[in-house]
Amino acid sequence: MAEHSNPNDKEHFGRVPSDPLTPPDWEVFRAQMHELLDQSVDRMRDAESHPWQAPPENLAETYAIGQGGDLVTRLTKQVMPYHSGNTHPQFWGWVQGSGLPSDLMAGIAGAVMNSNVGGRDHGANAMEQAVIDWTRRKMGMGPDASGVLVTGTSQATVISLHAAKVRACPDLRPGGSGAKLTVYAGGQVHNATRKAVELLGLGHNALRLIPTSRGAMDVAALQQQIEKDRQDGFLPLAVVGTAGSVDVGSFDDLNALADVAKAESIWLHIDGAFGAWTRLADTPWRNLTDGIERADSIALDFHKWMYVGYDCGLALIASEADHRAAFAVRPPYLEGSATGLSGGDRWFCDYGIDLSRGNRALKVWCALEMFGEAAFSAAITRNCAQASMMADLVVAHGMALMAPVVSNICVFTASPGLSPAQQSAQNSEIAIKLQLDQRAVFSTTHVNGITCLRAALTNHRTRDRHIHAAIKDLHALARGDPATLST
Ligand SMILES: *Cc1c(COP(=O)(O)O)cnc(C)c1O
Repeated sequence: MAEHSNPNDKEHFGRVPSDPLTPPDWEVFRAQMHELLDQSVDRMRDAESHPWQAPPENLAETYAIGQGGDLVTRLTKQVMPYHSGNTHPQFWGWVQGSGLPSDLMAGIAGAVMNSNVGGRDHGANAMEQAVIDWTRRKMGMGPDASGVLVTGTSQATVISLHAAKVRACPDLRPGGSGAKLTVYAGGQVHNATRKAVELLGLGHNALRLIPTSRGAMDVAALQQQIEKDRQDGFLPLAVVGTAGSVDVGSFDDLNALADVAKAESIWLHIDGAFGAWTRLADTPWRNLTDGIERADSIALDFHKWMYVGYDCGLALIASEADHRAAFAVRPPYLEGSATGLSGGDRWFCDYGIDLSRGNRALKVWCALEMFGEAAFSAAITRNCAQASMMADLVVAHGMALMAPVVSNICVFTASPGLSPAQQSAQNSEIAIKLQLDQRAVFSTTHVNGITCLRAALTNHRTRDRHIHAAIKDLHALARGDPATLST
């Protein structure tokens, strides 16, 4: 029998439902949902018509709790228009994923199930394991590897480095050996590693920033620093390799780092937040991550370059035993059993910080099942090629690259002839103007003391024409020539 509105609610309680948190009329709710779904699908299909717009000043008042009104109308008129812009094909700021139609399916199915994936015996655990297994195979890690889906690379870094810490000094856990631990990373490392090191109580100075050359950690300098630290009584804990630096998209030589880590018996962690996904790209980009399979842990995001909706990252750890040893603590109120709901052989609360967790795997699974792995390889490869194309256009317009384009990030200055201070001011102004005019979203970063324009291509909606138009507009603004802006 189809599930219709429960007539008992009306018979016994008039218009007041027995559950105040249930729609009084399911058929009305169904109609609202159809309307919302239609408008949502239209919005996704027409993402190009919906660039970022500055939210009106009174938006907080509009959202003040307790106003009622038709919720579908409010969602479509007052909420959806003020998105963060990253669904638009000309959004290339920071490193942000663009979202997928499959997220709509996952969102609905996930809401219906409301699974808590901390543990126990139900489907979402198996689905998370399937997503982890697929990813570990793509990264080239063996079957002993283990993982846990988290909010993003920031949290995955904490989890990975905590596992490193427990392996290096198990006695740190109950007591504290007093060992002074050190962590090594290239100067280009993301501040997520800085936060993780401080959060783990190692202290700000424990993070040794190793000089880079051509965007990669100087391996000889790394070895010298490790040697010096050992002589000074420190215990080198981990080397953090960067696979895709957030600023310019450079890569450490992961095989060289793996050699050092192996020889020194140090944990090798890779920050592959977005760059790890070059593993799915065609050569030559694929080779940027050669050696990633030798890491002890990898932190990466699905919400950036796998385009999946926010939020979803992964801590992938080569040894399940190391991973488990760092997090599994089962008090009596979480006791498992052989069968029944408290069965199940993998409780993700044993592999991370959170006990209560949502089903993040569902949107990754829906994405891969809807489009297939090859579609992601093609989109990632295309983003790399587009970054190179953008670089060519930058140069062709007399502007100047500020870093080589090795993967999907293009960093440049609009008027290389100006003084550094003038360039910085102009580049910042151009970035903001393009955003406010709803033409394109670039962000900025600093290279050699100059504020530069920066595009990170993690957008499956971007077509080559979008890049041509944006560079043309940008150049017109730099020359102060609005007549040549695209229409
Ligand atoms: C985005 C990013 C992070 C942080 O990841 P979140 O998912 O935002 O927590 C870390 N490292 C790099 C290289 C990044 O690009």
